[in-house]
Amino acid sequence: MSESAPSPAPAVVAVLLAGGVGARAGYDQPKQLALLGGKPVLRWSLDAFAAHGGLSGGVLVGNDDVMAAVGMLPEGWISAAPGDERQQSVANALAALAGFPDDAAVLVHDAARPGVNAAVIDRLLAALADGAEAAIPTLPVPDTLVAQADGVAGDVVDRGALARVQTPQAFRLGTLRRAHAAADGAAATDDAQLVRRIGVPVAAVAGDARLHKLTYADDMAILSGLLETGRMMQNAVGMGYDVHRLVADKPLWIGGIEIAHSHGLEGHSDADVALHALTDAILGALGDGDIGDHFPPSDPQWRGAASHRFLSFAATRVAARGGRIAHVDLTIIAEAPKIGPHRQAIRERIADILAVSPLRVSVKATTTERLGFTGRREGIAAQAVATLSLPDDRA
Ligand code: MG
Repeated sequence: MSESAPSPAPAVVAVLLAGGVGARAGYDQPKQLALLGGKPVLRWSLDAFAAHGGLSGGVLVGNDDVMAAVGMLPEGWISAAPGDERQQSVANALAALAGFPDDAAVLVHDAARPGVNAAVIDRLLAALADGAEAAIPTLPVPDTLVAQADGVAGDVVDRGALARVQTPQAFRLGTLRRAHAAADGAAATDDAQLVRRIGVPVAAVAGDARLHKLTYADDMAILSGLLETGRMMQNAVGMGYDVHRLVADKPLWIGGIEIAHSHGLEGHSDADVALHALTDAILGALGDGDIGDHFPPSDPQWRGAASHRFLSFAATRVAARGGRIAHVDLTIIAEAPKIGPHRQAIRERIADILAVSPLRVSVKATTTERLGFTGRREGIAAQAVATLSLPDDRA
């Protein structure tokens, strides 16, 4: 480079870590591949980095399943194999970036935080442009914090002295290389800690609520709400129907509550006919089979199971698809006991299980004028209709 030529801006690249197995999220696949708003969780970050004009590319660290789910990488992106630990995955990415100069900027990001966006990327890069060698997004701690042991709350911890650390974390590439070389196998949960160990200060910039980390299954619903911007949603309606036989001297569970009665419903689980119909209605709207597919009566683990587990499972499937429950309408068909006095309790219980407002839950009851098996008090039937709002990604 001649002395008179202006220096080109240093390259900016991303390292997207999609190597973790994500067992805690409770999904049957790695959490970074679960669908959020109709696309794999890791794709949200990849798209955000690819759309940012300041980046020239990056390294996606993931196994063959990850690469198969992503398909063709955006321009300027390459892949690297994951290590057994996060730190090794970053080291593999650094090896893949060997051709970049030390003054390049690198953004290291966990795919389990799909809400990365241009605003936070800009804040991090501005900190590097101002001279920082490392910058991380942090958020204040809004809750009171206490020490806790054996289920007993102890002393308050000063939350003003604490911050929550997010990713992406930005570094000058040479600094991150030195930090990883110096770590020599000593583990850290993020790269900023390794950089601090070699004596380099880490600047903190404002984090972003949308960088919420996907850890537990409930986080899918939170992230759906945080990230649902500009997606076309479409209603889907499903129906469910169920019948169980009434037998003497059994507890009677209907709509998630126990109702005092001479008879109860017979079945493999607690035989809650109303929750079964409702579960099938939601699964029907998802096109996701029925309750028997997911909880086979032949499986002894569901013997006597409380049916709210089936219903909350269905709600989790809705959230995983980036959808929400718009409304459910339930009709319980029974000659006895009288359901009317319990309608409000059932409504509130179902709303609680589905994590929606009771305004989105309707519970009705009818008899069949003493006609048929319900009229003869041989059994109780239930019908349900579920209306879901789902991302319009069905071809
Ligand atoms: Mg049933």
